[in-house]
Amino acid sequence: MALLSIVLPAYNEEQNIANATSVLSDILEEQEIPYELVFVNDGSKDGTYREIQKAAESNSHVKGVCFSRNFGKEAAIFAGLEIATGDAVVVMDCDLQHPPQVVPQMWRIWQQGAEVVEGIKSSRGKESLAHKLSAGLFYKIMSKLIRIDMSASSDFKLLDRRVVNVLLELPERNTFFRALTFWVGFKTETVSYEVQERQFGESKWSVLSLMRYAIANATSFSTLPLQMVTFIGVVAIFFSVILGIQTLVKYLSGTAVEGFTTVILLILIVGGWVMISLGIIGHYIARIYEEVKGRPKYIISNTTENIDGNVLGAWRRRERKG
Ligand code: UDP
Ligand code: MG
Repeated sequence: MALLSIVLPAYNEEQNIANATSVLSDILEEQEIPYELVFVNDGSKDGTYREIQKAAESNSHVKGVCFSRNFGKEAAIFAGLEIATGDAVVVMDCDLQHPPQVVPQMWRIWQQGAEVVEGIKSSRGKESLAHKLSAGLFYKIMSKLIRIDMSASSDFKLLDRRVVNVLLELPERNTFFRALTFWVGFKTETVSYEVQERQFGESKWSVLSLMRYAIANATSFSTLPLQMVTFIGVVAIFFSVILGIQTLVKYLSGTAVEGFTTVILLILIVGGWVMISLGIIGHYIARIYEEVKGRPKYIISNTTENIDGNVLGAWRRRERKG
């Protein structure tokens, strides 16, 4: 019988662990789907890991690992994929904003042969206006950059074992899970769902962290910003040729001298573009630097009893080999 793994990244979610465990296990047991729940404690500052341990003691389907510090949701998702042993793996938030009732639906679509089942938001749920606008802008830009419509996609999805293995083989450290599943291809189906209200606690994203996340993802998936720099340079050169000719003509006809304003403006504008361009290039160099250092995406400091001791070993071996 096939096994379903559910990966749940958790950062300061002590109030949500027990609830997520009971809600999910009730649904899956009722539907007679063999399952395991893989909690990844992403360096929480509260008692999240204690809650995970408690859940693992009372429910043998629960597994948990603990990061040595906060490595971010992407890292937590990938750690979960690594530890999951299922034939199909669902990734979802442990605040249950991704409705658990959709999981059996995804499972059935998988049984009918889909290799990726994307959860598509039919509504974004309750969010602040600023959040909605910035998320909207981010997805517009991202969709343009990577030529995949991302506006309604989320991290809520089911992946076949084959897809999980492909994702785990990718050597890059800066990952963008949401877009990578589109990028790897495979037979994809979608289910739509309504984003639920958060059960307990509060959202972990600040405006600043969202901005950082957006820039990191955009640059890990597209080199268009770099090419834009070239484009802007070409435009600047075009105008400078026109202005150069005009200046020469004025000089030769003896009407030079004025035009001080133009010079100041040009210096400001060109200077601005040069700095922005250098910034973009610098950002990519920083990304290359990070990749070249080859540090692991995350460090596991602890696992629950029932996790195969080999998980840590396998992870270390892989890191050494890569
Ligand atoms: N999360 C995480 N590491 C982080 C931030 C968030 O593992 O650094 C997890 C969090 O515990 C939750 C999921 O990612 O399960 C989504 O986070 P959140 O609910 O705060 O985001 P929102 O739903 O508001 O977009
Ligand atoms: Mg949430």
